[in-house]
Amino acid sequence: MSVADEVVRYSRLLYERGHLTLLSGNLSALADGLVVVTPTFFPKPFLEPSDLVWIDMEGRVVRGVRRPTSEWRMHVAVYKARPDVGAVVHTHDVLPVLLAERIDASLLSEAEAYLGSEIAVVPYITPGTAELAEAVASALRKSNVAILKRHGVVAVGRDLAEAVNRVEVVADLAKAAFYNMILGLWSAGRGV
Ligand SMILES: [Zn+2]
Repeated sequence: MSVADEVVRYSRLLYERGHLTLLSGNLSALADGLVVVTPTFFPKPFLEPSDLVWIDMEGRVVRGVRRPTSEWRMHVAVYKARPDVGAVVHTHDVLPVLLAERIDASLLSEAEAYLGSEIAVVPYITPGTAELAEAVASALRKSNVAILKRHGVVAVGRDLAEAVNRVEVVADLAKAAFYNMILGLWSAGRGV
């Protein structure tokens, strides 16, 4: 399967699993030194390889008829900071973002085993800016996953399978922490 086909298939999969909404969230993978990235403002389930955009490390469009995601700076900055990374996935998952407001040490220690690193937390910075791109790239120098406060999640991997898996692991860990909190409140309320 070509890198473009993989970007399309993983975009659909992430949309169907509820990690991306129709128009928000984006992903990319490296191919021949270029970043193959999802276009801005395009419904994920209808993506075809010809809708993707190939940009160079300066963000110049080399191939494709659409405009790249407004978060292209973040993708490029991460590849520059992490030469070992071949794919970047950015979602707007709700629970990890909520959790970042009260990030809890037990979640972080569990995460290390699954993610190969701690989860980094990046303060809120306006989406699409060079400032956010630099903050995320710097957080991901030592982590494979960052939660962006009041925004979303960024995960990296050697390939899309690894990056997408990390997105799923973080979402599951957040779900587990959330249910745990609810069950704790419930059992406290019932006196059990
Ligand atoms: Zn975003």
